[in-house]
Amino acid sequence: MTQSTVIPFYGSDVPNDAVINTCVHCGLCLSACPTYRETGLEQFSPRGRIYLMKAVADGRIGMESEVFQEQMSACLNCRACEAVCPSGVQYGQILESARTQIHHAKKDGTLPAYPATTTAVRSLVFGQLFRKMSVFRLFSRLIWLYQKTGLQWIARRSGIIKLFGLTEQEAILPPINDTFMVPRDQVYPAIGAERARVALLSGCIMSTAFSHVHTATIRVLQRNGVTVVVPRDQGCCGALHAHGGELDSARSLAQHNIVAFGSSYDAVIVNAAGCGSTLKEYGHLLHDDAAWADRAAAFSAKVRDISEYIAALDVNTADLNPLPLTVTYQEPCHLAHAQRITAQPRALLKKIPGLTLVEMAESSLCCGSAGIYNVTQPELAGQLGNRKIANTVRTNAQVVVTANPGCHLQLAGGLRATGSAMRVLHIAEVLDMSYRGATA
Ligand code: SF4
Ligand code: SF4
Repeated sequence: MTQSTVIPFYGSDVPNDAVINTCVHCGLCLSACPTYRETGLEQFSPRGRIYLMKAVADGRIGMESEVFQEQMSACLNCRACEAVCPSGVQYGQILESARTQIHHAKKDGTLPAYPATTTAVRSLVFGQLFRKMSVFRLFSRLIWLYQKTGLQWIARRSGIIKLFGLTEQEAILPPINDTFMVPRDQVYPAIGAERARVALLSGCIMSTAFSHVHTATIRVLQRNGVTVVVPRDQGCCGALHAHGGELDSARSLAQHNIVAFGSSYDAVIVNAAGCGSTLKEYGHLLHDDAAWADRAAAFSAKVRDISEYIAALDVNTADLNPLPLTVTYQEPCHLAHAQRITAQPRALLKKIPGLTLVEMAESSLCCGSAGIYNVTQPELAGQLGNRKIANTVRTNAQVVVTANPGCHLQLAGGLRATGSAMRVLHIAEVLDMSYRGATA
């Protein structure tokens, strides 16, 4: 096909017409959309993007349209639009399908291929790092060495990072923990009578840069009478693949995890919002596959975010110690919008004696992290990051609490850049500090 040909959606993962046509163009989602709020442009809005998808579906434009491709990429997939849409448009589903269409067309030559560097980065990120956890952990260990041996200090001061144009990418490298949470069927028994036995998703970045959050999560669950197992052989949840237009890879990762976790646990606990929402959508991801559909739906039905799970228990408040802290809460998009979990984290924080929760403005507006968005769309990501930091700092809290690694890193980097002393903590860390009687 030539570039002047109108290239329709084709093959598998065509955005679902029925979902596209659910949109009644009311515009009620516009004020919730971070990219629309930043630009004020219709094409940067959910309604504008759905209109573009419909235009391709109806053959009025093709996938070769630069505006179509640009907008499928400029969307954060934060799903704030989905949460406020009165018609119930399942926006995330059609966006991920549209991205997969573009990806397939670039791979099979229907659309011009990615630039060579993009192909190389995609192949490394989606095909290796976030596909094979052994490779991810090896890579994490190399970053750990870079950070621990002083190489990072030298690289930053010598200007070599700037020379290679890697300043922004290097700045968002998370500090890697000394100890990783490698899943090996570890069992952490409940304290007191066992009320449930759950499996924990160790994940990719959570297992290397946030393994301390896993430790806190496990201790909080144990204090609530829950035995925690970290099943071996589990892998990446597939969120990055699904969001990045590689739905086939996301499906194969989902199948891998469904087997690794089995069906013997009372719940599958996740403490990273993006991973949790993906695990909860395995049922949809595999709904067309007769061999997997039922297993995937049953698996998804057991997935719980940590705050959702603890709040639903008759939570152990007797062992909570005073924690004299002023905190604010930043809502991860994939917790607030994709999983619709907003009340539970606040309710849990309010149960901690001595803790004061102050609300920040626009708590549920995306911070601009959104997976690899701050790499693919640095300008918009920077604007949204600055807006989030301004709202955070304005609360004068000592700690900003969140529950997703992307948000955590975006907040920590932004606060560092402004010279703020405010700390970023996961909600499980705050609960754990109170249970342990730790000082702030
Ligand atoms: S996505 Fe929903 S809220 Fe937005 S314009 Fe369409 S129907 Fe209205
Ligand atoms: S997912 Fe987020 S950025 Fe994308 S259209 Fe919806 S509200 Fe806007």
